[in-house]
Amino acid sequence: MLKKRIVLLGAPGVGKGTQAKRLKEQFQWAHISTGDMLREAVKDKTTLGMKANAYMEKGELVPDELIVELVGERLRRKDCQNGFMLDGFPRTVIQAEKLDELLESINEKIDDVVSITVENKAIIDRLSKRLVCDQCGKVVDPDKGLNIGDPCPYCHGKLIRRKDDEPETIGRRLEVYEAQTRSLIQYYQGRGLLRSVDGLGDLSDVYQRICDSLGIA
Ligand code: AMP
Repeated sequence: MLKKRIVLLGAPGVGKGTQAKRLKEQFQWAHISTGDMLREAVKDKTTLGMKANAYMEKGELVPDELIVELVGERLRRKDCQNGFMLDGFPRTVIQAEKLDELLESINEKIDDVVSITVENKAIIDRLSKRLVCDQCGKVVDPDKGLNIGDPCPYCHGKLIRRKDDEPETIGRRLEVYEAQTRSLIQYYQGRGLLRSVDGLGDLSDVYQRICDSLGIA
């Protein structure tokens, strides 16, 4: 079995989550999405969820200590032994340094950092059309012609727009992403781990580009 430990970088809406799901199906690498984990915590009203909610609604980053603890716990789970993809973490150089410490403590390391790039205009267009289920959290295919309030195609839930996918919040999230991530990209570039992938176009084409960049075509 091919083991890879990957960081997926890309602004909100570039399709990281979708590509990670495919990679998980093919290679059984654990998909660790800090955004999904936090939304779950908010939904379950856990202590973490209550602390994180105010930041998330504004499109701001949740404090590092909360995220680092969450990821540390997750990386120790058994399903990460075949490899894992971090999606949404690290977002800053400080988080990347914390991640290195965490991984060192469990005898792991990052093999590749895949940065998926799409221009902002296309991202805003994609995110403002994105609908998710209020129960299972799945994102529905925009080509299915579904609207807010329609039943979820996967469960008994209802389709909604994520609060942070509203146009003003998207703008703020993209600004936050760019401001924080520029130095992160340099950090990984300097260590020779960065693979840049064009995220525009058909999902399967982007998937193929990611596999090529990882040398697993
Ligand atoms: P995402 O689904 O990755 O766009 O994450 C949604 C929200 O969760 C972000 O806007 C942040 O508020 C929070 N979040 C997710 N990952 C992180 C992280 N690594 N550091 C800080 N906040 C995060």
